Amino acid sequence: MTTPDHASGWANPPRPTELAHRLLEGVLKPGDHAIDATCGNGHDTLFLARQVGAAGRVLAFDVQAAAIGSARHLVEEYGVGSQVSFVLESHARLAEHTAPGACAAVMFNLGYLPGADREVITRSEETLPALAAATVALRPGGWLCVVCYPGHRGGDDEAAEVERWMEGLTPSGWRVARYGMLGTRKPAPFLLVAVKPG
Ligand code: SAH
Repeated sequence: MTTPDHASGWANPPRPTELAHRLLEGVLKPGDHAIDATCGNGHDTLFLARQVGAAGRVLAFDVQAAAIGSARHLVEEYGVGSQVSFVLESHARLAEHTAPGACAAVMFNLGYLPGADREVITRSEETLPALAAATVALRPGGWLCVVCYPGHRGGDDEAAEVERWMEGLTPSGWRVARYGMLGTRKPAPFLLVAVKPG
C-alpha cells in the first residue's frame, strides 16, 4: 500500500482500496471492533488490525482457506495477529458472529482473489444479505465501505446491484457516496461508502 506524501500531495487520484483506508483512518480508534467481510490476501484485515490496536477486535471472513492462510501470515508478520479472528465461512453468515451495533466499520472488497481461482467470485445472492447484516452490526455513526469491480464477468451485475442497494439506504437516514475514476478504458473499480445514522 502506498501512502500519500504530504510534502508533495497525491501524484494521482487514490485507488478505491487506498481511499477506503484513508477515510477509515479518521473513523477507527484503538479498541474498536471492525469486520473485513472479504479478507482475500489480507490487506484490509491488516489495515483494520493496525487501526484498532491490541485492545480492538477484527473479524475477517473468506470462503477460501488459501486466502485466510495468506491473510493470517500477513497479520502475523506485522505482529497484529492477536486482535484478528478469521472465519472460514460466507459473509452471508455475518450476523451469527457479531453483536448488533458493536462495529465501527465493515469493509467489503468484491470480485475474485488476484492470483487464485477466478471462478470464486463474490455474488450478489450472498453479498446483499451480508451487506444487510453489516448494517445491523454497525454502531450509529459506523462506516460501511464496499469496493466494487465492474469489468469482469459477473462483476458488472454485482456492482450495479450493490450500488442500487446502497442507494436504498438513504431514505432511512444513511449518508451514501460513490468514488471512482472517470475516462478509463475499462469500467473502473469504485468505492461506495455508507455512514449509519447516529
Ligand atoms: N478484487 C479484489 C480482491 C477481492 S478478494 C482485488 O482485485 O484486489 C475477494 C475475496 O472474497 C476472495 O478472497 C474470495 O474468496 C472472497 N469471497 C468470495 N465469496 C465470499 C463469500 N460469500 N464470503 C466471504 N468471502 C467471499
